[in-house]
Amino acid sequence: MRDETIPTHCPYCALQCGMNLRGVPRPDTADGAAVEVVERPDFPVNRGALCGKGRTSTFLLSSRVRLTGPLVRSRATGRLEPATWEEALRTIADGLRRTREAHGADAVGVFGGGGLTNEKAYTLGKFARVVLGTSQIDYNGRFCMSSAAAAHNRAFGLDRGLPFPLEDIPRTGCVILVGSNIAETMPPALRYLTELKENGGKLIVVDPRRTRTAEQADLHLAPRPGTDLALALGLLHEVVAQGRTDEDFIAARTTGWADARAAAMAHWPELVERITGVGVPQLREAVRLFCDAPSAMVLTARGPEQQSKGTDTVSAWINLCLATGRAGRPLSGYGCLTGQGNGQGGREHGQKADQLPGYRKLDDPAARAHVAGVWGVPPESLPGPGRSAYELLDALGGDVKSLLLMGSNPVVSAPRAAHIEGRLRSLDFLAVADVVLSETAALADVVLPVTQWAEETGTTTNLEGRVLLRRKALDAPAGVRSDLEVLSALAALLGHEKGFPADPEEVFEELRRASAGGPADYSGITYRRIAEEDGVFWPCPEPQDEEGPGAHPGTPRLFLDRFATPDGLARFVAVGHRPAAEEPDADYPVLLTTGRVVAQYQSGAQTRRVDELNAAAPGPFVELHPQLAERLGVAEGEPLAVVSRRGRAVGPARITTGIRPDTVFMPFHWPGEGRVNTVTNPALDPTSRMPEFKVCAVRLEPTRVSGG
Ligand code: SF4
Repeated sequence: MRDETIPTHCPYCALQCGMNLRGVPRPDTADGAAVEVVERPDFPVNRGALCGKGRTSTFLLSSRVRLTGPLVRSRATGRLEPATWEEALRTIADGLRRTREAHGADAVGVFGGGGLTNEKAYTLGKFARVVLGTSQIDYNGRFCMSSAAAAHNRAFGLDRGLPFPLEDIPRTGCVILVGSNIAETMPPALRYLTELKENGGKLIVVDPRRTRTAEQADLHLAPRPGTDLALALGLLHEVVAQGRTDEDFIAARTTGWADARAAAMAHWPELVERITGVGVPQLREAVRLFCDAPSAMVLTARGPEQQSKGTDTVSAWINLCLATGRAGRPLSGYGCLTGQGNGQGGREHGQKADQLPGYRKLDDPAARAHVAGVWGVPPESLPGPGRSAYELLDALGGDVKSLLLMGSNPVVSAPRAAHIEGRLRSLDFLAVADVVLSETAALADVVLPVTQWAEETGTTTNLEGRVLLRRKALDAPAGVRSDLEVLSALAALLGHEKGFPADPEEVFEELRRASAGGPADYSGITYRRIAEEDGVFWPCPEPQDEEGPGAHPGTPRLFLDRFATPDGLARFVAVGHRPAAEEPDADYPVLLTTGRVVAQYQSGAQTRRVDELNAAAPGPFVELHPQLAERLGVAEGEPLAVVSRRGRAVGPARITTGIRPDTVFMPFHWPGEGRVNTVTNPALDPTSRMPEFKVCAVRLEPTRVSGG
């Protein structure tokens, strides 16, 4: 593609920034060519801006650390050794078949990822249910936005991260941003908040740390980790006490207010101050800013969601929107800032334990009949819902004996990671498809090297619900195959020669039919439309006459006329505060919260291998307040162990007044002794099955060598 410029999207986060790829001569690569990133100012979401991750995203394409041939673990040496594709695929097919024959279909597990394209997520779900016949499939997106998804569904009858495009944010009057540090997680999106302020709007940031995002706020509320639910209830209490509810909206467009109101009234401001540490004057100021604005939004991210009460926490923030009439109206509403590149699409098309394509429910007979019809199998042959991600990983080596894993690195990203690493090691058989030898791939019996984002075509759905097309810009190295080619070949080896195409557009055409009539209806979306329109928002039902004037325009803004519940009304959900699953005590007296840094992405499998990013963020650290550091006798940069009931992680102390004195923070992108997920708590939300990454009790142990 030397002389071409190909418009496409970043491989990393859910913003899915637009970029162009341009061919450049590179004599050190196999075919003497490579690609470089150039600005794509015409794509509306990021208007040309990229963070360092996006800017350096082509690095791995020609990196020597990428995998370029299959590896199979040698019985003789116990090491991963180079193998042919035929040998590797046959070893996987034999391994999965052996397990199924000996222990039944549910002894084979499948684990996917929120970075997989829609086509891959769809095919992986179909492969699990049709070829393997297993119910045991889930994916790492469960660790991402599942609490928001559950709360969305129960309030609005539909889960799309943002019910409006990002371009609406600068035009609203007030935004409450809860537990999101977008200045580091998706920097190009920060401009929406900057423009909000330039337009006279107000920004309230809720975060236990004074992050780069919180520094932009008109009001920063820093609650104790694990108390966002109480904070939302305290605000709603104050809204009611000040007579600032929108009774007309509540009567016309909602149900369940009486119970939700009663629950909120049990959380008076002084009580909420005691629980959260946020003062009553700050609560009142937040209510004033939120209610004085003519329109307003609440946006949440992992902070309130990755808790053992994440679903209820998000419901409490939705209740605040509903009680003040800030939902289902222009420039108002609740939204979730999804994290992973295809975190939205990845949860819609069937790799989630309880779902079928089109965001259909696996336990809905009509949904099963529709999808089974598209797949050409009897509805009764489809297995039922399986375990959630953590429960599935925890069952490895127990009743789940073999695992096929794509696009995920749970050795670093799962909670209680040392335990999960042990479960992975205890499997009879593990196969991993990845672009690099991740910490999880290193444990596998077979590792398949797969194509990267710029070497294949496929769709993703960004945090706005905008379906986008990533285009192939260059050929993959010889010896590398796409995930779709892998699944197609494995299906054939396991007796399904048809029904698993490797061509992404052919898969998308089938996905369109499978999603038709479902909540996430893609049937009116085609590759051609996405390319011509720079993305199409779902739901987008099949056009009346083939993409002619009758074509559905897509749905940038949801719920303006009615919510997606059977009666069209939004549901209040009565929720109350409860403590974190693990509160500080004499042995573990400090709170730990975890998060991200700008130069790394998720488990770091890719970004830790990019020189520029690695130089910018070479390792983890323990952020703590000077008061806490003084109590421990720890100086800046000294190694500090963070110890919980599950294990310990070590990093250099980073002392800052920008964190609460009762809390420490560690980013989670690294393996080894700095792996903070060794420490995190897998306590699950009862509805979403989200683990409690964001809060657990720890003690701190300075680890400097005495006299050193
Ligand atoms: S913000 Fe996200 S999508 Fe945009 S360049 Fe950075 S990592 Fe890529």
